[in-house]
Amino acid sequence: MLGNRRPAVAIRPRLCARQGCDEVASATMTYDYANRSAWIDQLDAEASPAGYDLCDTHADNLGVPSGWTRSDRRAPPSPFARVAV
Ligand SMILES: [Zn+2]
Repeated sequence: MLGNRRPAVAIRPRLCARQGCDEVASATMTYDYANRSAWIDQLDAEASPAGYDLCDTHADNLGVPSGWTRSDRRAPPSPFARVAV
C-alpha cells in the first residue's frame, strides 16, 4: 500500500557559492572579520546566512587575505572514502 506514504521531502542539494561553480557544496566557510579568521567546516546541516557553502575544490583552494588565519576543521578524509569508482 502506497496510499499513506508521504512524498520524500525534496532536499535540494546546496551548491558551491563560488560564481560559475555548480558543484555540490561539501563544506561551509565562515569567517570573523574582526579576528581575521576563516574556518572551513563540514557542510552545515542548515544553510547559515553567515556561511558560504563551498565544493571540495573551492574549499581546498580557499585563500584568505594576508594576515588572516585559515583553519580547516573538516574531518581528515577517510582512506576508505577515496576509493576510485
Ligand atoms: Zn566550487
